[in-house]
Amino acid sequence: GLVESKAKGKPQKQICQVVLDHFEKQYAAELGDAWASIRDVLTYPLCWQYAVLLNKFSHSSELESTLAVKGYHPAFHGSLPYLPSSFKCYISRTSGRFPTQKHQAGKLKEYYLLNAASLLPVLALEVKDGEDVLDLCAAPGGKSVAILQCACPGQFHCNEYDDLRSRRLKQTIESFIPEPLVNLIMVSTLDGRQIGDLKPELYDKVLVDAPCSNDRSWLFSSDVQQATLRLIQRKELSSLQFELLRSAIKALRPGGSLVYSTCTLSKAENSDVINLILNSCSNVMPVDISEMAKAVSHEFSFLSGTQQHELLVLPEKGRAWGPMYVAKLKKM
Ligand code: SAM
Repeated sequence: GLVESKAKGKPQKQICQVVLDHFEKQYAAELGDAWASIRDVLTYPLCWQYAVLLNKFSHSSELESTLAVKGYHPAFHGSLPYLPSSFKCYISRTSGRFPTQKHQAGKLKEYYLLNAASLLPVLALEVKDGEDVLDLCAAPGGKSVAILQCACPGQFHCNEYDDLRSRRLKQTIESFIPEPLVNLIMVSTLDGRQIGDLKPELYDKVLVDAPCSNDRSWLFSSDVQQATLRLIQRKELSSLQFELLRSAIKALRPGGSLVYSTCTLSKAENSDVINLILNSCSNVMPVDISEMAKAVSHEFSFLSGTQQHELLVLPEKGRAWGPMYVAKLKKM
């Protein structure tokens, strides 16, 4: 990690100037005054924060006391009435990273480190025991693991198009989920755009954690040529995201719902995509998630003025979570 490499005296990763210039133009226009402080958080890894999601299938009280000693506190609880007590996520107000856990043969991992905002799409999905769930773009698997901390789905289908990343997804699932349960999870390597036609009206809940501009990591691209190419191809992401959403809608049973999420601030990949779906699919309605947003607003900073079916987490100092866009839709 970036923070550790500094501590070990290795050279720190450099900001990629072409990416920063590109973001500067777009986000100053889209976000106004808020952009300057967001930029300061995104470009300063020493203030980044990591949440610790406990694995309910393998956790110890020892771990929880260590977290408490290190200044971590449980997040989300008390504020979200439907959240099962098995779901435990610890966060701290200070920056830095809890040590990562090495793989140990025959032993499940006790926790997963992630950006706390990544849990919001999972919480918005509100998976209940027995529901059939599709995680359309699932690798490396953080949100799949989080879904299984919340509920025990009937069918759980995790999909990832990229072969290599799909293998990482399998590893993640195997290192967090115990034997009998792990066999009920189906992992596929399909183009998510085709799943709607392959599995029509099969799921109660679909998570579309879409491929997107990854603002946080793109800012530290070490390959300027690759970064420039990504910025050019960035325009094509919106149509991929739209197609993934259309496929997710087909895969939903009537009455089922989906959550769409990205880790970019870009309006073109967030509200614009959702508005296009709402305007072009007559069987889809927005779902109000403002209660959830209100319930967690002490831990997250949100863009104000968004609609009730969406939220955008803006990183700020001390609450350096996000960027994360979340929107919820229901199929009639
Ligand atoms: N949900 C994951 C998690 O929480 O760990 C992160 C998912 S990441 C934001 C998006 C993923 O979508 C990438 O792994 C990417 O390879 C995958 N992807 C890209 N195009 C896809 C497609 N057409 N169908 C399915 N997955 C795709």
